[in-house]
Amino acid sequence: MAFAHIVLGISEGWRQRRTLRLLVQHTPPGRTVLDLQPAMLAERGVAVLVLDFDGVLAPHGADRPLPEVHAWLRQVVAALGEEKVFILSNRPHGPRMDWFRIELPGVRVISGVRKKPYPDGLVRAGELANVPLSAILMVDDRLLTGCLAAITAGCVPYYVRSPFVDLRQRPRKELFFMLLRWAERRLVRLSP
Ligand SMILES: [Mg+2]
Repeated sequence: MAFAHIVLGISEGWRQRRTLRLLVQHTPPGRTVLDLQPAMLAERGVAVLVLDFDGVLAPHGADRPLPEVHAWLRQVVAALGEEKVFILSNRPHGPRMDWFRIELPGVRVISGVRKKPYPDGLVRAGELANVPLSAILMVDDRLLTGCLAAITAGCVPYYVRSPFVDLRQRPRKELFFMLLRWAERRLVRLSP
């Protein structure tokens, strides 16, 4: 079913709303992926980093990460090893994937799995890197996709609360996703 991952996001997100609410509460409002210091990863017990693309590495629909994110990715690869860094996007196709093949060829893009919040992509990353799921940090700007997948899989979620947006390039798409992020934060705040 084409929308099964959305249905799962709402139903499982509702079930896990307390965990998700705590995640939001413990996340500084301005957090971007650049706040994650590569040198700290190993210290925090992170062996594998799995990164969402849209909003996390670049604004929605971009064909490559932002220049400052590219520099950060190089530091991450130096710190963890390129075989320990994965991209898990619900849109793993187009020029963005070619960019990784050329610029960071050791970083693997996970495809052919059910979309987040299904935990399949994280399970695949754990198998490929041969690490336990608890040693994986999933970086995502969406509570009901990547963060929820991390919680379901037993990985550690890293919630990017201030995703990269470009309202001039793609106003309608960015506004839609801003609304979506707002709605999911509202959902997880609902009690009990
Ligand atoms: Mg995203």
